[in-house]
Amino acid sequence: MPPENELVVIWPVKDRTCGICHGPAELLVMADGKPHCLSCVDLDHLVYLPAGDAALTRRAKKGSGLSAVVVRFSRSRKRYERQGVLVEADALAAAEEQCLGDEEARLRRRERDRERRASADLELQARMAERIGQLFPGCPPKRAEAIARHTGERGSGRVGRSAAGRALDDEALRRAVVASVRHQDTEYDTLLMAGVSWAEARERIRPAVDHVIASWSAGAQRVL
Ligand SMILES: [Zn+2]
Repeated sequence: MPPENELVVIWPVKDRTCGICHGPAELLVMADGKPHCLSCVDLDHLVYLPAGDAALTRRAKKGSGLSAVVVRFSRSRKRYERQGVLVEADALAAAEEQCLGDEEARLRRRERDRERRASADLELQARMAERIGQLFPGCPPKRAEAIARHTGERGSGRVGRSAAGRALDDEALRRAVVASVRHQDTEYDTLLMAGVSWAEARERIRPAVDHVIASWSAGAQRVL
């Protein structure tokens, strides 16, 4: 089994449901005896890198503030086995560039951008970014765009996936903004990587999150 200081994500052998939001948990984390989907534990912004390229994996993990190991139970061997890692998208891109020649890295990146554009509903994302700006006038516009892009990518398992119906649901957008603040403006990722449970980590960073959210909310002055 992986060392204790690694976050462990389980790739279930059979279909599982999140014990919190009751959505499908294609990958899950066990906490308080219940399966939690990645959205409910704030890990859904990470991207999956299958095992196989040791140098790429090492570099991607090193560059990733938050990362997790993905394991799956092998029935024949009767133990959990590593399948790959979850890392930050930027860290994976940087690691690929380090590993590949410049030309090849460019081609890979172009391909990835193309896939991303194809899967993303740009108009929907623009509307989401606009709505985030209305709900949080102090949120820097570039940040609102990034949050909308991240939540709006189809097939991602994030808030925005149920796109059509709920995309502009204020509560869903609010959750996406809070998740972004946790990862980018607080010690959250560091705490998780240090082995603090996600529930306790959330509790500890709550004041910092509240502070940012308050400063971004309607009525507060714009902070850039
Ligand atoms: Zn869930």
